[in-house]
Amino acid sequence: MEYPAPWQPLIEGLIESVLVVDCLDLSIRAVNRSACRLLAAAENDLIGHPVLEFAAPPEDLSFWEDVAAGLADGVLSSTVVRRADGSIVPVERRVSRVILEDGNPAFLVGINDLTERLAANKRIEELAYHDTLTGLPNRTLLRERIEFVRQWSARAEKSFALLFVDLDRFKQINDSLGHLFGDRVLVAVAERIKGCLRQCDTAARLGGDEFVLVLHDVDERGAEITAQRLIAALNQPLAIDDLSLTVTCSIGIALYPADGQTADDLIRNADTAMYRVKEHGRADFRFYQRQTNVDLLARMRLDQAMRRALEQGDFRLHYQPRVDFRSGRIVGAEALLRWRDRELGDIPPGRFIPLAEDSGLIIPIGMWVLNEAVAQAAAWRRRGIDVVAAVNVSALQFRRADFVPAVAAALQQSGLPPAALELELTESVLMQDAGEALLRLRALAELGVQLAIDDFGTGYSSLAYLKRFPIHKLKIDGSFVAGLPEDGSDNAIVTAVVNLGRALMLEVVAEGVETEGQRRFLKNTGCDQFQGFLFSPGVEPQAFERLFPRLSPRALEAIPLACRV
Ligand code: C2E
Ligand code: MG
Ligand code: MG
Repeated sequence: MEYPAPWQPLIEGLIESVLVVDCLDLSIRAVNRSACRLLAAAENDLIGHPVLEFAAPPEDLSFWEDVAAGLADGVLSSTVVRRADGSIVPVERRVSRVILEDGNPAFLVGINDLTERLAANKRIEELAYHDTLTGLPNRTLLRERIEFVRQWSARAEKSFALLFVDLDRFKQINDSLGHLFGDRVLVAVAERIKGCLRQCDTAARLGGDEFVLVLHDVDERGAEITAQRLIAALNQPLAIDDLSLTVTCSIGIALYPADGQTADDLIRNADTAMYRVKEHGRADFRFYQRQTNVDLLARMRLDQAMRRALEQGDFRLHYQPRVDFRSGRIVGAEALLRWRDRELGDIPPGRFIPLAEDSGLIIPIGMWVLNEAVAQAAAWRRRGIDVVAAVNVSALQFRRADFVPAVAAALQQSGLPPAALELELTESVLMQDAGEALLRLRALAELGVQLAIDDFGTGYSSLAYLKRFPIHKLKIDGSFVAGLPEDGSDNAIVTAVVNLGRALMLEVVAEGVETEGQRRFLKNTGCDQFQGFLFSPGVEPQAFERLFPRLSPRALEAIPLACRV
């Protein structure tokens, strides 16, 4: 059909894509360049062709029937068009009735490509409802989901579970390896979490290292199974760059309807339960119990009492002897913090140290421990008791810029030779802060202080770093010693650590030795030193001193007997 010349300048001037469609046979009579671009077709391939060739049936068919019947004049609608290559483009379309030069009625079809606008809307929606880092639902969407699940559960008289998941010591990863690394850990963790859930469950990120999971239609048992699956999944090391690390998590669980009716109540109660896990050593799960709100108060009371204890000098140190396998002598004393509160009684370090680490109080407490242990070791030396004092160091303490000078000052004040002080650091402290840690360890090694990795085997270590760190000792964690000599995997792990120590020229110390069988196995494997209840628990300084006359150079074989009585 001949092109109606006067239309061209008019429609060419428009930004939107325009088709002129004959009213009688719905064929295309004219197009502008923008329409050719949108439909990916040349002008010749459009003109004279039925407009329905570019429509995406079937709903479009009825639209064009309405158009032909004069019912769609001026109506703006969203639809899709089919391009010449078969691809589909979302568009917005308005049809206006016009009369052509030849007097025939026609339609001016104005089309706007919606691809970009829809993508932008989708992005806005994603931003509004999703966490940009992990792509998981954010707090807003989480609330909507909880409300949806709550309504469904209420109607169906079913329960559902809300799990509050918090990564253990994630702040240390972030602070030491940097936020970018921390972000990658979070993304990897989010993937693991998703892998543990069913399609109908929700995993959301509240921010930081906090995740909330909503488990649809589950009871206590179902929640427990998922919590266990999560803990096991996170227990598999993550490989990021050349670091292999394990990020454990603490999980608090609240059940609807027993533990709360609203999203706020459920989240708060699951959070409270999660805190209980942290207090009891992390890497576990717990159900919300009504009295845990009281425990929160107890926590605050404990924190107050701890501050008071520090001010009033209520902390004490016990010393656990460490024995050398070859000489049979006590060669070391691990300083273990003890606290008896007037009202609360004896409080084990496993309970108050995590709290002190969270509040930062571990810094002055740790400083007191360091000075006290160093002064004690110096006093012993003056009286002929020549032992290395081992002091446990928390991550927070180790990372402080004034830590190395404080160690140097303690040594100088007491006159203790640096080699008679050993600092025990955990694997996580070293690996999370690898670059910084190396510098700090070197500074300590230059002072002449000995360095040990405590609880070796429970954290994550990179062999590459172990080799570079100026470390002197590995302390095999008591949990691996416990199964000796029968347990095959403990057996293999301990043997491997002893061999690793030998290969890296490090001394190996076994902790938690409680039985003669364990001691014998360790000795035969080539372990260098041991400590544990078999020989002695941590004891007061005077009791520690009394251990000495008992030991002659050949006394090693007698040690277990001495301890049994
Ligand atoms: P750790 O450094 O691994 O200390 C060894 C823990 O094992 C001590 O518990 C000790 O009493 C216990 N133990 C020793 N021999 C045996 C045994 O044969 N069997 C069993 N089952 N346990 C044994 P404790 O004193 O309760 O200390 C627990 C943890 O608290 C320590 O683990 C250490 O991580 C931390 N800690 C203790 N004192 C300090 C301190 O002054 N500063 C810091 N930062 N942490 C400390
Ligand atoms: Mg220790
Ligand atoms: Mg230990």
